[in-house]
Amino acid sequence: MSIKPVVALIGRPNVGKSTLFNQFTKSRQALVADLSGLTRDRQYGDATYEDKSFIVVDTGGIGEADDGSGNIDDYMSEQSHTAIHEADIIVFVVDARAGMIGADAEIGKFLHTLGKPVYVVANKVDGAHDAAPAEFYALGLGEPYPMAASHGRGVGNLLEVLTADMPTQENVVEPKGLKLAIIGRPNVGKSTLVNRLLGEDRVVVFDMPGTTRDSIYIPYTREGRDYVLIDTAGVRRRGRIDEKVEKFSVIKTLQAIDDSNVTVIVIDAQEGIVDQDLHMIGYALDAGRALVVAINKWDGLTADQKNYIKIEMDRRFNFISYVKVHQISALHGTGVGNLYPSILRAYQSSMFEVSTNRLTQILQDAVTANPPPTVAGRRIKLRFAHIGGHNPPVIVIHGNQTSSLPKSYQRYLENQFRQVFKLEGTPLNVIFKQNDNPYANKSDTPTKAKAQQLRQRERNRAQKFTTKDKPRFTNKDKKR
Ligand code: GDP
Repeated sequence: MSIKPVVALIGRPNVGKSTLFNQFTKSRQALVADLSGLTRDRQYGDATYEDKSFIVVDTGGIGEADDGSGNIDDYMSEQSHTAIHEADIIVFVVDARAGMIGADAEIGKFLHTLGKPVYVVANKVDGAHDAAPAEFYALGLGEPYPMAASHGRGVGNLLEVLTADMPTQENVVEPKGLKLAIIGRPNVGKSTLVNRLLGEDRVVVFDMPGTTRDSIYIPYTREGRDYVLIDTAGVRRRGRIDEKVEKFSVIKTLQAIDDSNVTVIVIDAQEGIVDQDLHMIGYALDAGRALVVAINKWDGLTADQKNYIKIEMDRRFNFISYVKVHQISALHGTGVGNLYPSILRAYQSSMFEVSTNRLTQILQDAVTANPPPTVAGRRIKLRFAHIGGHNPPVIVIHGNQTSSLPKSYQRYLENQFRQVFKLEGTPLNVIFKQNDNPYANKSDTPTKAKAQQLRQRERNRAQKFTTKDKPRFTNKDKKR
């Protein structure tokens, strides 16, 4: 894990930003989440290209007026502004068919002031032979990349360039200890909880230099165990405990989730459970993080309010029945101590280890108790299972016709594994391998890289288009 770089898509409305966004995130659509909770015009997603991954933000349209007379800030919402300033790389999408108009020039001027790498993409270059219109050179932002985003042409080439300098998972040095992210909407009590969890005196704060979007990483030891607390509220920045300099940042939240082993989401009981809380939970689980929920400000509630929240929890948390929910008061400290056992439990569950023999035995027990259905007269066979990864745990099951296995049966197996191994607080990925002769290459344990390679190959197949008539698009596109 590492801090994922952030790529922001910028441009006028309807130039194809969301199409490009979808192209970038297609490998993991589930991660696309609207976390801003404020408007619908921004999207945050997770993009993977080969062994690199990054967060991509579609900033929505800016520069609505095309006379070029207005100030760029007039067209940009505050959230878009934040996203652009927090991004590491900017992709400026222009419409090759419409040509360069005043607003493009304005946006271009603004981008020059940022001092960040900018890639100009000339979208809607539909003729396979066509170059990007030369007029976009005038932006002074380098050679425009021709693209036909709706066909996926040019996307692989751009991804190759964008990710060239990004770190791979391998070349990142990990800090020591369980990484614990504290996330939540503004004012839910994150800072108060961080102070509670750390105590006042025994903390050494390492204020890592960085942009304002960066969370603060606080290493500490508790009961002989090392932790690194990822403080998204920024309460300990520069030691000014009384003064918070941070604004809520979606990107910071996503990065903290991605970089954690366990995420604690703080929810304000007085406000109730809101959609944005659920989006954050969804993102964390899709990202494979272990999770603990803290319903804070429990102290201030009347009996009626408590009942109401309990009903809400039953209703809205039924999709995370395996996640531990705590009612706490960060202000008074009530219930805070109970968080640690759940955090450890979630972490251990996410790292659980078991031999192939034992796992296969559990699989066979489950199959005997409730056999899979037959497909076209043949019974689906599940032969053996092994661990394929941790945090999140991955169980790989090999068998015949596994692609025909109904979702309900997959859930049944997942639940069996959860029960037997007492997995709590972590998502569990059960994946299936179709393998008619599994024993022929039994030693061929799928690794993450391998799984990625396979996905890549599948994508290639889906996206193949003829190479002979596309000189302007490089063969990088074929790799997708
Ligand atoms: P953050 O923005 O998530 O870091 O939230 P803060 O920790 O700054 O808390 C926001 C406000 O909620 C402050 O006024 C806190 O004193 C208050 N607060 C935090 N935790 C609790 C709690 O457990 N109970 C009550 N009643 N208020 C709390």
